[in-house]
Amino acid sequence: MRPYVLVVEDEDSLSTLLQYNFEKEGFEVGVAKDGEEALIMIEERTPDVVLLDWMLPKLSGIEVCRSLRRNKEKKKIPIIMLTARGDETDRITGLDYGADDYVLKPFSLPLLFARTRALLRRTNPSIVEEVIKMGNIEIDTKALRVSINKNQVHLGPTEFRLLEHFMSNPGRVYSREQLLDAVWGRNIYVEARTVDVHIGRLRKILNEKGANNPIRTVRSAGYSFEISE
Ligand code: CA
Repeated sequence: MRPYVLVVEDEDSLSTLLQYNFEKEGFEVGVAKDGEEALIMIEERTPDVVLLDWMLPKLSGIEVCRSLRRNKEKKKIPIIMLTARGDETDRITGLDYGADDYVLKPFSLPLLFARTRALLRRTNPSIVEEVIKMGNIEIDTKALRVSINKNQVHLGPTEFRLLEHFMSNPGRVYSREQLLDAVWGRNIYVEARTVDVHIGRLRKILNEKGANNPIRTVRSAGYSFEISE
């Protein structure tokens, strides 16, 4: 079954680009040009995920989001807000009004695909494949296999979970503590330094096998996974 994504975007060039590329990625795509049209289309058919522009004619993205969250049948629809860079306060408000995630404009398509899949994997795992592909790295989260340039790579279990977490959330910066929570779990006592050790191991293997140094150290903040395509 192909996941159905509703793109709500008033800028024609952008909605056309998103429609074309999401279809190419195996999604079924609907397009709404303003907030009102979005609500009508959602009433007719519930999308698996909504990509919702912030600045829209008639009803803004926030108003659409609010209205869906108040609707008994529609309140669980996963929403990714598309926000212009610099709208820092808007971003926070966007999550306050119930968006599940936000992506800053201008965005790269691989990042938007990855975030969309990550959200679907959380909310509706049966409709997304288990394979995540980014650049020349491929990870099968069910079979627990990793390959780079189609060659299988062997990782320890912790390195595998780290990579899976990074590839599900590309472009995000994670502190050591956040990585500990996400990969080791909340109730296990591990020193933050341990994270550095495993990151070091993972980075070494990835780079040796031909990855394009995807793990970035963000000074005094932590680590992030960057896609270069
Ligand atoms: Ca707009």
